[in-house]
Order: sequence, then structure tokens, then C-alpha cells
Amino acid sequence: MTIQALPTEHLAGCPVCNHPQANFVGHYPEAYLEEGLSLYQCTACAIVYLNPRLSLLGTHMLEDQSLVYQYDEVTQAQAVQAREGIIDWIEAMTELTPGRMLDVGCNRGYLLAAAARRGWQTTGVELSQVAAAEARKRFGLTIYSSLSDLPKNQPFDLITCWHVVEHLHEPVQMLSQLAESLSPTGVLAIQVPAYRFADEYVRRGNSSHIFCASHPVHYTAETLSMVLAKAGFETFYCDESAEHLLLTIYAAKPSRQLYREHLNEIHQKLIWFERDHATLAQQLQAMNTYVQRLEATIEAKNQHIAQLEHRLQTINNGHIMRLLNKLKR
Ligand SMILES: [Zn+2]
Repeated sequence: MTIQALPTEHLAGCPVCNHPQANFVGHYPEAYLEEGLSLYQCTACAIVYLNPRLSLLGTHMLEDQSLVYQYDEVTQAQAVQAREGIIDWIEAMTELTPGRMLDVGCNRGYLLAAAARRGWQTTGVELSQVAAAEARKRFGLTIYSSLSDLPKNQPFDLITCWHVVEHLHEPVQMLSQLAESLSPTGVLAIQVPAYRFADEYVRRGNSSHIFCASHPVHYTAETLSMVLAKAGFETFYCDESAEHLLLTIYAAKPSRQLYREHLNEIHQKLIWFERDHATLAQQLQAMNTYVQRLEATIEAKNQHIAQLEHRLQTINNGHIMRLLNKLKR
């Protein structure tokens, strides 16, 4: 297949904060962009971005040619299996239990299929009609073609964006939309190539895994957290893996933290209550023992009185008998 250069656009400012000034960072060859890849770093918000970049039309043309994740049945089964590990990790790190999950950019549905196995109620969003059709056919998944098609007022407990955010032209706008679809206690889980390890990608001969026409923005833990904050999220877990060269972030709306603090407060009160309860129970036990002892003493006294009464009766009886005998005489 001959690679044709695709339509591009030139940015007048940063795609995150619109600031017009940026420092040149580096240039990499790329067949899909006539000019190659020129990277700049915004002098205001420090995000690294491609300029010029593919236009939206160019992006769609490129995605339509994409053959990634087109697997045979054996590889597909392995892909789902491997993604169960991802869901397991997310559950462990976020303390979430299976609920409603949305995978944005779900492609052929492997992550959703893995989550469904673990009990999640799954929904996907996928721009590529080809990939979405395959996900529906292979796994019977519910896939929408855009975020605006999602049913209203049905917030998700988990939203995953696995290798998606680095493809976005307007990340703040899209992540803000996700904030509207996330429940007050829900979690947004994101994974992207880690720009911090860009040199390592090059050293390993995998430069195209990070520097390519379809990645208009590059993220470090700091810049992705900053973008998330602009979209209304708080980052609560961050991992930049030097082994896998990936950046994983878990974020949530501030309400999740408030909810967790509230839950902690209730938990603390419960501990106090149980402690008070234990003290009361001890005091009650002591009182019971005392009452039992009192009852035993009363019982002993009653017996003594009964004995005395008996003796008195005996004496009286003797006295009466003697009087009767006297009368008989
Ligand atoms: Zn900026």
C-alpha cells in the first residue's frame, strides 16, 4: 500500500489553553504528514503538541485505514483474557465493584468483553463504524458512535479511555463531556503513551508507537493531571511505568473525595459507637453479677428466717401442748 499524505491544519495556539507561544521540541519523520512531525511545548501550560497536525478529515481518513486490533479468533480470545487483567487492576486500585461501565474509543470491544465477564454492565463509544459493527457482532455489545448519543441521566461508575486521549484534538472539551457522564463517586481511568519516556521509545526502536500522525498531543503525569483539572477532575492515582513506557491515571470528580471522607466519618462514628457499646456491655455484666450475688444473699437470709420460723413454731407447739395437758388434768 502506498502511503499518501493526508490533509493537515496549522494551529495558531495551544490545543489545551490557546496560548499562542510555544517552544520547538523536535522533529520526527512521518509518511502521513507531508511536513513530518514537528513538536512544540506550550510556554504557558507545558503541554507538548503537534503543529501542523492532521485535520479532522485527515484523522478520519487515517483511522479508516487502521488495521490495529483486527484479530483472528485465537488472538481475540487472548486479547480479552489480557484485558481482564486491566479490569482487575482498575478494580483493585479504585476500590470499585462491578457497576455501569463506559469504554470510550472501545474499538473492537475487547476491554468491554473482559469487563462483562467480571460482571460489569458495559457500554461503548466508537467512532469507527467498522470496529463498532465488529464489537456488536462478536460480543453482542451496546456501542454508540459518539458521546452525545449516550442515554441521558444514566451516569457511569467507571469510564475507561485506553490509548484514546492522545488521539484527541480537543482533550479538555471531550473530557468535560465525560465528567457529565460520570457518577458523583465514579472513576475515570486513562492510559496513554508516557511522553516522559519518549527517548526510551526511540532507543527501543519503537519511536512510531509514540510519535505518529494520530497523536496530536503528548502527556506527562503533570500535564495530563492539569488537563483533567480543566475538565473538572481530580487525579488520585498516577503511574508512569518505565518498563511499559505508559502513563496511567485514575481521576474522579471532587464529589468522590467528599463522599469518601463522609464515609470515613461514619465509619469512625461506628467505631466509637462500638467502643461505647462494649463499655456499656461490661458495666451491665458487672451489674448482673452484683444482682446475682444479692439474690444469693437474700435467698440465704430467707432460708435462715424459714428455719427460725420453724423453730418458733416448734416451741409454740410444745407450749400449747403443755397447756392442753394441764387442762386435761
Ligand atoms: Zn497551553
